[in-house]
Amino acid sequence: GGRVSLAADALLPARDGKYLAREELAVEETLHRALEIGGLYLDYQPIVRVTDGVTVAAEALMRCRVDGEILPPGRFIPVAEKTGLISHLGDWCLVTAAEFVSRMQGHGTALKVAVNVSRVQLQNRSFAKSLHGVLAYTGIQPGRIELEITESLFMDPSEVVKGNIRAALAAGFPLAIDDFGTGYSSLACLKDLPAAKLKLDRAFVVDLPVDRRAFGVARAVAGLAADLGMEVVAEGVETAAQLQLLGEAGINEVQGFHIARPMNEGDLIEWLS
Ligand code: C2E
Ligand code: MG
Ligand code: MG
Ligand code: MG
Repeated sequence: GGRVSLAADALLPARDGKYLAREELAVEETLHRALEIGGLYLDYQPIVRVTDGVTVAAEALMRCRVDGEILPPGRFIPVAEKTGLISHLGDWCLVTAAEFVSRMQGHGTALKVAVNVSRVQLQNRSFAKSLHGVLAYTGIQPGRIELEITESLFMDPSEVVKGNIRAALAAGFPLAIDDFGTGYSSLACLKDLPAAKLKLDRAFVVDLPVDRRAFGVARAVAGLAADLGMEVVAEGVETAAQLQLLGEAGINEVQGFHIARPMNEGDLIEWLS
């Protein structure tokens, strides 16, 4: 009996009429509550240049806290994408990051902030308008906001996605290829991607100290990126040994718990000084 009744109410209509699992519906409610009570915020994780340790940027990572509980983005981003709420959250993230850049500029610190852009945002015709809105509203230089887009989206055949990527570039936003190496694009495609930066996925960093072949991949990617005039960031750097090998492989920039955890704005400002 239990099984049947579970199956019958496992899928419930979400606010926009799509069907969500019970668990996802709870996450959706939490997101709406977070929007009401100001429970959404950004943490920032430093991205540091290998040669001199200078912080060149910080990645904005969205957090959702309601009643003392923090939902990880891995739980709420997929739900926000499914319900369409991501376009609103993404706009909020862009404006919040841009306001942070503007405040930092006021303190004489020229920091770049990397903002993650979801597939669903890029599939939305209003994305370009959002980008222009952020610039008009905050007055920041577009070069200060780097848009992180996953590899597969650069290959997306949809005219809307292609148009949004063109619009972002035309407006002056630099693009970064996030989670590079986890998609299915061939290295040959890399030369046609209009990205200034490539983020080598954590999967390639984790085995570096024990796997010569992982080192070979990191070195090859660094060489290729250099030849194409792109910067490379390695993600998920957790140990001094990984950092050392990434430097030897020719990787320019690093991000990971070994350098710094994602932190709130106040802690980042302290960390920078
Ligand atoms: P991502 O863009 O690849 O972000 C890097 C993730 O790796 C972050 O997880 C970060 O906390 C984590 N990380 C950083 N250093 C280390 C390390 O040394 N070791 C390990 N194990 N992990 C490390 P987080 O914050 O949980 O975010 C997960 C994903 O959620 C992000 O992956 C991104 O795809 C997505 N996300 C986060 N914020 C946003 C947002 O504002 N908008 C969108 N569309 N997606 C977001
Ligand atoms: Mg990212
Ligand atoms: Mg990433
Ligand atoms: Mg990643």
